[in-house]
Amino acid sequence: MLRHIAAAVLAGALVAQPVQAQAPAGPPPSQTYIHAGALLDRPGQAPRGASTLVVQDGRIVQVADGLLPAPAGARLIDLSDQFVLPGLIDSHVHIFSDDDKTAARLEAMTRGAETRFVVGLDNARRTLDAGFTTVRDLGSEPTAITALRDGIEKGLIEGPTIVNAGRMISISGGHGDGANGLAEPYAELVRDHAVNTCDGPEDCRRAVRIQVSQGAQVIKFAATGGVLSNVAGGLGRQMFDDEMKAIVDTAHAFGRKVTAHAHGKDGIEAALRAGVDSIEHATFTDAETLALFRQTGAYLVPTMIAPEAAVAQARAGERPPAVLAKAEEAARIAFEGHIAQYAAPGVKIAFGTDTGVSAHGDNATEFKMMVDAGMTPDRAIRSATVDAADLLGLSASLGTLEVGKSADIVAVSASPLADVTELERVTFVMRRGVVHKLDGARQPWPAD
Ligand SMILES: [Zn+2]
Repeated sequence: MLRHIAAAVLAGALVAQPVQAQAPAGPPPSQTYIHAGALLDRPGQAPRGASTLVVQDGRIVQVADGLLPAPAGARLIDLSDQFVLPGLIDSHVHIFSDDDKTAARLEAMTRGAETRFVVGLDNARRTLDAGFTTVRDLGSEPTAITALRDGIEKGLIEGPTIVNAGRMISISGGHGDGANGLAEPYAELVRDHAVNTCDGPEDCRRAVRIQVSQGAQVIKFAATGGVLSNVAGGLGRQMFDDEMKAIVDTAHAFGRKVTAHAHGKDGIEAALRAGVDSIEHATFTDAETLALFRQTGAYLVPTMIAPEAAVAQARAGERPPAVLAKAEEAARIAFEGHIAQYAAPGVKIAFGTDTGVSAHGDNATEFKMMVDAGMTPDRAIRSATVDAADLLGLSASLGTLEVGKSADIVAVSASPLADVTELERVTFVMRRGVVHKLDGARQPWPAD
């Protein structure tokens, strides 16, 4: 039977008619003309003046100077008094993290997967509404994040394109060990099901392979302690060289990029030497560390709004007591560190916020902090477009507005090159050619 089908398919292929002879004359392809008052089509270069973007089937098919009249049948979106730029990319979010930290802690043992998923759905919508058309999720329950990612990808639900890590790989007692601080019966239960903790290189290979098998597109591991884990383990290095190397090599063998959560200098440098593609947070760095960034070409993802938010939450009693001292130390040091990092030539920076620590939809407040630490608005925007797309391995479709690329487009009412906080007030959001926000208002869904 199978052989007959195969033979028929092969025969069909051999006698196929020329396409022109069979294709029926269908309706003209639907196009959208976007009139932009100014267009930053390639962040890092000077913006263009009044321009027209033509979008078809979710992609950009033309970029032209001036405001081209839209032909009959085409949709015209008038942003001729707006500043238009590529959709923003946040390289570090936790889309399922609840903004209400107290409720999340109190309900941790009683919330079902469905309740947590609904929180994630809402967060995804708010993220897109804020102009972030792509995010990299660096730590969520694997079945939830892959379901959300695929639902958005199929156009079933509203949200940004998601590149996901699954669970963060961690040593036992490390930043990503879910059993930290739990009473014994619960700790044992969590450990039994934990697939993201590993001790020793062999075990760390296994942990990477399990994350990949559960849908991880990128691997994240904790090289050092973390601010928010409920363990008084400090912010220094927690993982040995052989464990980091095993994680990086195993992930790269699967074609996955690897990013390391790292605060302490020793952990950052060990992760860079192990071959990671990026470092999250990078709180404690010096000239030696920055030289290693330059040498390896790894990206630095600063997440500036996270420590500030964590300190405020810990002081308000919304976080466990073990968190407060770590958060205060990190917040104090981080800002000065980032000033030096931005000033260091050749250190690659990708925009990331660790949103989920701070509130979803506030992602763009990171821009002002970057600029306050000495970055030009132009470079800050590039870090959230061109550079983040490079870090995510998506430069072929994202990061700039060029013919053939995805129609992920946002607009603001004045130039963010003059005032970067304009990006906190996005007026227009299109993702894959679908309008999600127009004139500052969310559009009905489904948008078509
Ligand atoms: Zn994070």
